[in-house]
Amino acid sequence: MKFLDQARVYIQSGAGGAGAVSFRREKYIEFGGPDGGNGGRGGNIIVKCVDGLNTLIDYRYQQHFKAPVGTHGMGRQRTGADGADVILKVPVGTQIFEEDNATLIADMTEVGQKVVLLEGGNGGFGNMHFKTATNQAPRHANPGIEAEDKWIWLRLKLIADSGLVGLPNAGKSTFLSAVSAAKPKIADYPFTTLHPNLGVVKIGERDFVLADIPGLIEGAHEGAGIGDRFLGHIERTRSIVHLIDGTQEDVVGAYKTIRGELAAYGHGLDEKLEILALNKIDALTDEEREEKLEALREASGGEVLAISAVSKKNTDQILYKIIASMDGAKQQAEKEANADLDQNWTP
Ligand code: GDP
Ligand code: MG
Repeated sequence: MKFLDQARVYIQSGAGGAGAVSFRREKYIEFGGPDGGNGGRGGNIIVKCVDGLNTLIDYRYQQHFKAPVGTHGMGRQRTGADGADVILKVPVGTQIFEEDNATLIADMTEVGQKVVLLEGGNGGFGNMHFKTATNQAPRHANPGIEAEDKWIWLRLKLIADSGLVGLPNAGKSTFLSAVSAAKPKIADYPFTTLHPNLGVVKIGERDFVLADIPGLIEGAHEGAGIGDRFLGHIERTRSIVHLIDGTQEDVVGAYKTIRGELAAYGHGLDEKLEILALNKIDALTDEEREEKLEALREASGGEVLAISAVSKKNTDQILYKIIASMDGAKQQAEKEANADLDQNWTP
């Protein structure tokens, strides 16, 4: 699959601090000797695979990462402080490439995995270090090792966490652009007529990928054969967001049409958690809104949100529900894994 989220990032390790040239000077002590300390080590640039991220969206906001330098050594045998490491957090599945975007440096496949991309420079030796039997008063010290820097690419295959469905005109595209902070790069998609739309959504500390699935349902009806190829993107989808155009007369008819299409499409799409929302409430009277919400509640047997994609009213409610469905699915998987352990347990 060619849906990629990618970011070009500049990294620079910290230079080592220089060693000091210094001599002990105290009253009544003659020939105090060299006491220049070593420089501190510069910070490393490290990439770390973490849980809870699904996109590289943070790298759209920050592209430069510089580790602090080690500080210089000082007199009275004081060593300079080390520069702290800078850690780039990435989701599972991220690949790190050299600037040519082709040479693989690291493949981040497991949570907790850490790779040092650039090492901080060693601190230089202070003159204390160079004292020998024949040279009791060395007057030189080493400089720290210089910093290294380069550009790298971070690349991640995107898989949707939630999918948007609804009849044409329900407001799916409007919703996607209202809630997604940045659009990932879409490359080489074989279908030029139907571009499935992916959006990266960031809410609070969390992020996820939202896909405009209906392109595929409409496409399937037109015989575009997009179905299976698109499946890779929705395999992880825990929930679907079903939008209903509130300005149409027959909201229940619209609801049932899409439920029918989801069932016909198969692949378990109709079994996923449905987050149902009446859209375009900005264009409805209070009375119309309540009437339509009630009709949909009855038809679906569940909760119905009232939103306006255009004015972003209540759109966050949908996003929080998507996050909750992702967390719920994770807990479920952990529970099942634990249940397996329990069954296999023998005293
Ligand atoms: P899609 O076919 O489901 O992708 O629907 P679009 O996002 O293209 O929206 C269809 C039309 O509905 C557009 O003219 C939008 O401006 C309009 N629309 C979408 N959301 C809202 C809304 O919340 N309120 C109102 N009044 N119009 C909306
Ligand atoms: Mg659309």
